[in-house]
Amino acid sequence: MRTALRTSAFTEPDRPKGLLIRFVTTGGSFVDVTGPGEHSDHNRWNCHGCGEVSNRPEKDYLFRIRPDANAHATACRAIPLT
Ligand SMILES: [Zn+2]
Repeated sequence: MRTALRTSAFTEPDRPKGLLIRFVTTGGSFVDVTGPGEHSDHNRWNCHGCGEVSNRPEKDYLFRIRPDANAHATACRAIPLT
């Protein structure tokens, strides 16, 4: 099976300061990874669609956060309400 890439049907929100990665979700929303970057354990992710945030806010390395945020973006079907 082939997975289709698609762009969001919704307007991309403003990019916050410290944005490291932005994933588009299955529902067309966005998951933002923010923080100081690769060598810090103070990075986090949050979903604009359903409001979920990383399990340990403000306390994780980018290499741990990146796959979690990407997995959430793949699974999340919530659409942005704003
Ligand atoms: Zn979500």
